[in-house]
Amino acid sequence: MVSKKTPSRFQPGTRSYTMSRIRGTETSIERQVRSYLFSRGLRFRKNDKRYPGHPDVVLPKWRAMVFVNGCFWHMHQGCAKFSLPKSNVEFWTTKLTRNRLRDQEQGEKLKAMGWRVFTVWECQLDARHAQETLQRLYEAITADGDPNEGVKDEQIERQTARG
Ligand SMILES: [Zn+2]
Repeated sequence: MVSKKTPSRFQPGTRSYTMSRIRGTETSIERQVRSYLFSRGLRFRKNDKRYPGHPDVVLPKWRAMVFVNGCFWHMHQGCAKFSLPKSNVEFWTTKLTRNRLRDQEQGEKLKAMGWRVFTVWECQLDARHAQETLQRLYEAITADGDPNEGVKDEQIERQTARG
């Protein structure tokens, strides 16, 4: 079982709170996704700072990006792992809603730049679901797009300059 992330561990001001907010600090779920994709032969960049939201996995060859989202911080709708904390309700509602809106905006921007954007949720990576989730992710990434027509680095630079 994946341990349930309780917000009490993430009180504002504490180190774990700060660290958990920074994409680029590798979490175990990110590592899980990366090592699977790597084992299937895919090569990628990590936390590419040139893009909105710093996607966890960037696969230019497949014009694909993957975000690995914690269910709490990214407010996974309808998820058993997500429920608002009982205290500081207003604080958490504002904060998490903002996270969610930002995720949506960033996703739209990336799609407008021609990327295929995939999101993998923490709850889809527990012991019971991980195998199937990762397999489907791999298939989705490689199902579409000719690798020979992938996004070249020059195109990325141009897109970034524009966006
Ligand atoms: Zn979830």
